[in-house]
Amino acid sequence: MTAQVLDGKLVAALVKDEVRARTQALASRGVTVGLAVVLVGDDPASAVYVKAKTKDARECGIDATDHRLPADTSQAGLLALVAQLGADPRVHGILVQLPLPKHFDTDAIIAAIPPHKDVDGLHPENLGRVAQGKPRFTACTPAGCMRLLAHGGVTVAGASAVVLGRSVLVGKPMALLLANADATVTLCHSKTRDLAERVAAADIVIAAVGRSELVRGAWIKPGAAVIDVGINRGADGKLIGDVEYAAAAARAGVITPVPGGVGPMTRACLLENTVRAAELA
Ligand code: NAP
Repeated sequence: MTAQVLDGKLVAALVKDEVRARTQALASRGVTVGLAVVLVGDDPASAVYVKAKTKDARECGIDATDHRLPADTSQAGLLALVAQLGADPRVHGILVQLPLPKHFDTDAIIAAIPPHKDVDGLHPENLGRVAQGKPRFTACTPAGCMRLLAHGGVTVAGASAVVLGRSVLVGKPMALLLANADATVTLCHSKTRDLAERVAAADIVIAAVGRSELVRGAWIKPGAAVIDVGINRGADGKLIGDVEYAAAAARAGVITPVPGGVGPMTRACLLENTVRAAELA
């Protein structure tokens, strides 16, 4: 079997078309969708992500504004900016680019974003809503993975799903979304024994660990759906996922590449959350 490759760029373009139509509908009612992107410090990777997110947003008719603060900004200083953006009616979505420099209490910053403007879906209230099966904003990467599964025609209800990684950003909300969609979910982490056996039993594998090719191709159940969230850099500087791609693609039913799989979907789902924030305002 050779897997169908799920093209994240293509699906992201479809999502962006939908977002553009929705921003136009809002514009016709006099509403300009506003997104505030906050970057603290000068981490080069974060700067690249922020640039890409604001560019995407503007292409979809969203008024994206950058707020750049120096690395030595205090917790109080960042909280003051978040409060100011929270009170600004022109701003429908607030995104604080992570990771923040080490001296910040990141959880407190996220908790200070008004939940109805938390378009990254990381506020405890929004995560709690996902846990209740009544999401308002879903964390962008897991939401993107669900879109990719849908695009690939993968039946989630009744499937056996294994999620590798239990971060608040990816693994935990991913497991909740799959459970909400009636999959039977196993959430694996660094202490999980028998990882290979668990993966081998799965109809759906979501790898979100951050270890190059941890998931071996031979583990994949023939016909399984494999979504690779991992972004790792090889010795040659090239991006590598958490899945041994070629060997897995020879067995899987559908698979996402790295790059060009989940990454573009994460960005697209941020835009979807932002237009939703404006629609709900
Ligand atoms: P994270 O916070 O570092 O979490 C990694 C998770 O993997 C943890 O739960 C950890 O277990 C688990 N883990 C570590 N070693 C393991 C092993 N040998 N076997 C099984 N589980 C293991 O990372 P993250 O933020 O979730 O990100 C995960 C990966 O996705 C990274 O490569 C990141 O760059 C990528 N990512 C990509 C996108 C995208 O848009 N494509 C978005 C976000 C993240 P413990 O909990 O036990 O420590």
